[in-house]
This record gives sequence, structure tokens and C-alpha cells, in this order.
Amino acid sequence: MKQNIISVEHYTPILIVGTGISGLAVAYYLSKNHMKYMIITKKNAPKQSNSFLSAANTRVPSENEINDIINLTIDKCGADRPVIETLYRNSGIIIDFFEELGIPYEKTSFGIMPECLIKSHGGKKLINSLLQRIEQPMCNKILIHLEKSDHGVIALFYDTQSDQFIRIYTNYLVLATGGYAGQFSYNDNSPGSTGEAHILAKKIGARLKGMSTVMCHPWSIYNGRQILLGGVVSMSQGKIVDKEGVQLLKDDHISDAIACDDYHEMIDEILKFQLDCIKQKKDMYLDLSHADENLLNEKFKKYGSSPNIVKNKRIKITPTMHYSSGGIEINANAEVINLNRVFVTGEAQFNGDLGMGRIPGQAFASGIVFGKLIADKITNEGVFSTQYQPSFKDPPETMRLYSKENNDFPIEEFQKKLSALMMDLTACHSSVVPLLFHKKKLQESQNIILRRARGWGKRYEDILTLFFGYFVAMEIIEDLEGKNQNI
Ligand SMILES: Cc1cc2nc3c(=O)[nH]c(=O)nc-3n(C[C@H](O)[C@H](O)[C@H](O)COP(=O)(O)OP(=O)(O)OC[C@H]3O[C@@H](n4cnc5c(N)ncnc54)[C@H](O)[C@@H]3O)c2cc1C
Repeated sequence: MKQNIISVEHYTPILIVGTGISGLAVAYYLSKNHMKYMIITKKNAPKQSNSFLSAANTRVPSENEINDIINLTIDKCGADRPVIETLYRNSGIIIDFFEELGIPYEKTSFGIMPECLIKSHGGKKLINSLLQRIEQPMCNKILIHLEKSDHGVIALFYDTQSDQFIRIYTNYLVLATGGYAGQFSYNDNSPGSTGEAHILAKKIGARLKGMSTVMCHPWSIYNGRQILLGGVVSMSQGKIVDKEGVQLLKDDHISDAIACDDYHEMIDEILKFQLDCIKQKKDMYLDLSHADENLLNEKFKKYGSSPNIVKNKRIKITPTMHYSSGGIEINANAEVINLNRVFVTGEAQFNGDLGMGRIPGQAFASGIVFGKLIADKITNEGVFSTQYQPSFKDPPETMRLYSKENNDFPIEEFQKKLSALMMDLTACHSSVVPLLFHKKKLQESQNIILRRARGWGKRYEDILTLFFGYFVAMEIIEDLEGKNQNI
């Protein structure tokens, strides 16, 4: 490693990486506790996150529902009992959080969400409010390497704007870096959801679990970039047709559930049906020919969709990757198993490895509850010391991909192949032989990247995303191999 490339060094007692609901909630409670911290994002504005795109429908079970919700999340989603117990036994924090922020909320079928004229804008309201109450986040800094020491962690960032490497030593690291659904070719996520921190945490001793568990959402428009909420989908009365208007979905049971906006228990069956249509190269449309036009326009307005998506009384739909549920294993304090002083919150945590991996509204609930628990634990038990090793033990391999001169390595071509493969891996539950084959191919491609792809600025960021994408794909394969062995 060329030491002179690292041009800035900092110390902070607590470092939060990520400015979604999870990172901002930790920052909010640390600010309330008068603690010093630094909060960083790789994007050029702190609002660029999945949390900002979200409706922020937040699960808050009533006192007598808590046990059932805990058991359901363990049985159907494969959640870890101590973690999920901590989440729901502390879910009273959520109401206090909304009230402290002065955000009016409405009750939903499973919790609460910010009151908004457009239903899908709840996340924006929460994030905007939190950003006014915390330290100014530092932007454009990608976490590219971690190293553990006795008293904390050294984190290396690349600043895409100033073209500098920045090393930050911290006593407590909080990873709030979200999931990795952004690595799939069809996804509705913010582009930052690419999973680098999962891989970096593993390299310093964390365990990853359930990485093949991802949630594919059945109703998306604009080639996967935006999901349609159930209130709009129900206007089709569950009629899904092809280009010629021929009925594709023939199961009345499923159609009825879609019509009543009560299909969540049947998502697996709906996705299986959609996958068959895709295999047969049939485009799918929601048929709105019988829907009342005024009511439809009213729904579009309420749920924040444009009426322009309706063509010939139909909306073209595709399934899309909505969130990832695999992640970094933590204990009930959200501290990484095997790694003291490193916390993980939000979608980067391991949520579950069965079915959809978590239940609706869990993401925001978890970000808020663990935000408070992490901040309080560090505040009450924190031991701070500025002594740290002046240099990395090993040169980070991510720095080998950096060069002041951009070359013409075809990053986009490799990225397209990788993101399509990731869709295939999770859709088909491949057998052992193709998995081994894919693994070998992934390793070969990754070696090519290490040998040949070079750049700086935005291009370096793209190379890093691709490089880490191969690791994420490899983790998905290893998880699938484990599942195959247990069959
Ligand atoms: C359209 C949509 C609607 C949704 N609706 C709901 C809902 O109603 N209710 C619900 O509970 N959930 C919902 N979800 C899911 C929920 O939004 C996410 O699971 C949740 O917001 C994740 O929050 P987070 O803070 O963990 O991560 P994110 O909000 O994804 O934020 C991650 C942050 O980490 C930063 N980051 C990532 N990697 C690095 C790196 N290497 N270096 C530096 N910074 C990095 C990113 O830039 C970003 O700031 C929805 C998701 C989508 C996409």
C-alpha cells in the first residue's frame, strides 16, 4: 500500500456509517445523550437511502400481540429469538420517538406511519426531521476497509469528491449501511444498497447468515424501479393478463386475495406464477378495464403513483428485488457476534432466513428501537481511548483497484452479467452442480477485476461496487449450498 495516498486522518469516539433510518436514529439518541460522534454516507446527500424512499409504515404490536408477533417472526421468517424479543419487547420506544420528533402519525393495519398527503412519503418526513436534530453528516465517503484493534476499529474511506483516502480511528463502530438488494438487475432500491460493509465486517471476524434470503416484490413498474402499493394493485381485482388481454392468472383464490389487498401470505405463490410467465417470455399486465376511472385517479394520488403508467387500461408489471434479509449476525444488544465495540443496525443485520425473512414494518421498527438501545449502551458503558496503531497491518486489496488514470475496462458489461446472475441464483434455487460452476466463474471474474480494472472518482466507486458484488454473490451461493445440504 502506498501510505502517502492516505491524506486525511481523524479520531472519533463513535463512528456511524449510513444515513438511513438506522444510522440517523443512533445519531439522534447519541445527540440526546450529549455524546460526540461522526456520521458518514457514501452518497452525495444524506437523504439518498432506502429509508427516504420508504413509506415508513412501522410495526408496533399492541401489548397482547407481542408474543404472537415474536413467535410468528421466528417460525415464518427464521429470526433469531433474543434479537426479535429485544425488538418487540422494546417497541414502545417507537411511539415516544414519533412524539419526540413531533411527527403526527396515523394507525395502519400493523402499526403506525407518519401522516402525509401522499402515503408513500412517510420516510421523507422522518428523515428530514432527524437530519435537523443531529451532527451534519459527512458525504461522498465510501467505506472500503476495516481493521480491528483492541480499543476499537480503524475504518478506511475513499472520498469520491476530493479524490482522497481518509482513515478514521474510532472506539465504537456502528454499521447502518442497509442491505444489498441494489446488486440485483431488477430492484427498487436506492443505488447505495450494495453490501460492502457486510463483506468488510466478515473480513474482520463477523459472521454472515441467510444471505440468499431476499424479498422479491411482485408489483413493480418502470422495470423494477418503483413498487405499486396494494391499494392500487387491488383495483385490478386480481386480473393479470398478457399483451393480448388473455388471462394469465387463473387461480381464483389468489385473484380474490389481490382484489382484497390481502395477498401477503401468498407472495410465494404469486412469485412462482410470475416466474413461470417470465420463463415463457410473457409480459404481465394488471387489467384495469373494469376499474372506475375516478376512483383509480384518487388511488394514484393517495399512493403517489402517476396515472401515466396506465396504457390501454393496463399497467405493465414485473417482480423486483425489494430488500435483503441476510446479514451480519448480532446479539440482543445489536453487537456483532465475535466482535466487541462493533454494532450493526437496520437492514445490514441478519433478519431471518425463512420465507420473506422479516415481516412488513419490521425494518423501521428495528431501526428506531436498536438506534436507542445502541446509543444508550455506548453512552452508559463506553470506554474511550485514542491510542491506536498508526498503520494497517495488511494493505487493503480495495486500494489496488485505485489508479489516477482511468482505464477502459468494461465495468458495465461485468456489472450486467453479475446482477443478472444474482437474480437467477435467488429465483431458481440452483442445484449443487451449477452453484459450484457459478462460484468458479465468479472467482475468475473477480480475479480479472483485481488484475485489470482501475480508476478514480466515480469510476473507482463503480469498480468497488462490482468487486464487492462478487463477494455478495459468493455469500449467496455458500448460503444456498448450506440449504441444499440440509434438504
Ligand atoms: C420503496 C420502499 C418502500 C419501503 N417501505 C417500507 C415500509 O413502509 N416500512 C418498513 O418497515 N420498511 C420499508 N421498506 C424497507 C426499508 O425502507 C429499509 O429496510 C430500511 O429503510 C433500511 O434502513 P437502513 O437505515 O438500514 O438502510 P438504508 O436506508 O438503506 O441506508 C443505508 C445507508 O448506508 C450508506 N452506505 C451503504 N454502504 C456504505 C458504504 N460502503 N460506505 C458509506 N456509506 C454506506 C448508504 O449511502 C445509506 O446512507 C421499504 C423499502 C423500499 C425500497
